[in-house]
Parts: sequence; C-alpha cells; structure tokens
Amino acid sequence: MPRISYVNGHYVPHNHATIQIEDRGFLMADAVYEVIGCIHGHMADETGHLDRLERSLSELQIAMPVERETLRFLMREVMRRNRQKNAAIYIQVTRGVAKRDFKFPSPDTPPTLVLISYDFDFDGNAAVKNGMKVKTVPDIRWQRRDIKTVLLLPQSMAKQSAVNDGLDDSWMVDPEGFITECSASNAWIVTKDKKLVTRGVTSEILRGITRTAIEKLCKEMNLVLEERSFTPQEAYDAVEAFTSSATALITPVIEIDGHKIGDGKRGDICKNLYEEYRAYVEGLRGKQVSWEAGL
Ligand code: PLP
Repeated sequence: MPRISYVNGHYVPHNHATIQIEDRGFLMADAVYEVIGCIHGHMADETGHLDRLERSLSELQIAMPVERETLRFLMREVMRRNRQKNAAIYIQVTRGVAKRDFKFPSPDTPPTLVLISYDFDFDGNAAVKNGMKVKTVPDIRWQRRDIKTVLLLPQSMAKQSAVNDGLDDSWMVDPEGFITECSASNAWIVTKDKKLVTRGVTSEILRGITRTAIEKLCKEMNLVLEERSFTPQEAYDAVEAFTSSATALITPVIEIDGHKIGDGKRGDICKNLYEEYRAYVEGLRGKQVSWEAGL
C-alpha cells in the first residue's frame, strides 16, 4: 500500500504528489503551515493549531482553503489511509498559483492545500529523556515571527550550524542579547528559585501551541511562570532548561554553549511537565486550550 498525501482535493501516492511550479509557496514562501501531533490517536492541541492556522492566514490575507470541519476530516483521513495512530500531520496552505509578481494575485485565486502525515514515535523519542545540547546563534529572521510561514531558511541554517558542531539545535539570540526561541520550538529555563521563564508573546517569537498548553499546566501545577526575555548567561546559570513544540513536546536541554545545565540530566520540573502534558493530550486533564485562551 503506497503512502498517501493530500493535494488540492486529491489523495495521491506520496511520490506522485506535486504542486505547480508557479505556486507562490514555491516562488515566494507565500505560505503558512501547521504541524499537529497525533499521539496514540489523540490529536494534540488540535483546536489551538487550527486557530493559529486561521490567524496566520488572516494576517496574510489568504483565505482558509476549506472549512475547518473539512480540514479536521482530511487530517484524519490522511492518517487513516496511512494506517497511522502516531504521526506528525503537516498542513500547508499557499496563496495559490499565479504568474510570478510581487503584488498579491486576485483574492479569488484558490489557495493550495497540502497535507502530509509523517510516522512519529512519540514514546520512542530518546531526546525527551536524554536531553539535547544546543548552541546560541544570532537570530537573523524577519520581524513577523508570530506568523507561522514557510520562510524557514534562517531556522534551517541555525539548526545546521548546530549539527555542524556535533550538537542538536540552536537557540537564537536577538540583537539586544536576549534569547528568542529555538530553531523550531520555544525556549524555557527554570531559575534557581524554581521559576519558569520563557520569552513573552510578541511578534518576535512564534507563540507555540505547546507553550500555551504549558502555561495552563503551570497554573494547575502551581508553578510560577515569568514571561520575559532572558540572556544566554541566565540560561547557563539555570537549574533546568527545555524546549517545547508539537513534536518535541517538552524536551530537556542539558547543555548550552558548552555549559552544563543543572546536573546535565532531565530535571524534575521538565519531567513532571512532560508527564502532565501527555496526560492532558490523552484528555485526562480537562479541555485542550484554544489560541484565544492563551492570550
Ligand atoms: N517556535 C518556532 C520557531 C517553531 O517553528 C515552533 C514549531 O514549529 C514553535 C516555536 C513551537 O510551536 P508549537 O508548540 O505550536 O509546535
């Protein structure tokens, strides 16, 4: 049975799934995306991700390609056809196909919709237990990082720079010397007095849906959360550090720029948050958060 992906109304064998060469997503990165984890058959934070997709599209004046309910169906159908229970579902919407021109094409240009589902072994993700090592790099991205666009070359370069140094990932640093986020996840530290710190929500970071869920869990777990900027030095001095995203979930960071964080192992706060997050996804900790709920 071939692997199936979805392109503009058709379920197609993955190797034959193509888009037009004048698609603006291809020519100009004129496109947004979402990644949603499906863990043991539970769509993690589906509402939040679809809320954010709608928001990213509206910020760029691109229409939703299908109704939300249809999109929810398509996600499940792609997974069903691929016989998956654990997957990362990738959704991309572009402004569609038009003759190459900087101005937007007519608003009735149909958006392109692509869905790809990747096998993802959430239970077997070794980094969640063993942690990862990161370096800091300058954040060279554009200024609308709150929109989840496919303009990902700076993040790809940040990640590759880490890999070239034998590390796992990079935390990006703004011109004022504060950490913004990791290449594809939000960055967190735990201070010596056990406060969680993560950068506040502005257009300088992508407001992670996992981050939003962690905010909710912090309240329930009586953890003190400070949303503010922090420097690499503060991160070196932290007792724990971690990143959060739809696929990494809550992954410890055990070394930053060669500085061991805490005792160099996954800390208790990170471990407890991970377990609470897994229970939350399975529906054991109440309703999943919407985008609005985190504002
Ligand atoms: N920050 C960036 C730059 C990202 O690319 C991502 C995820 O892709 C995140 C944060 C985490 O977002 P989420 O938790 O919604 O996956």
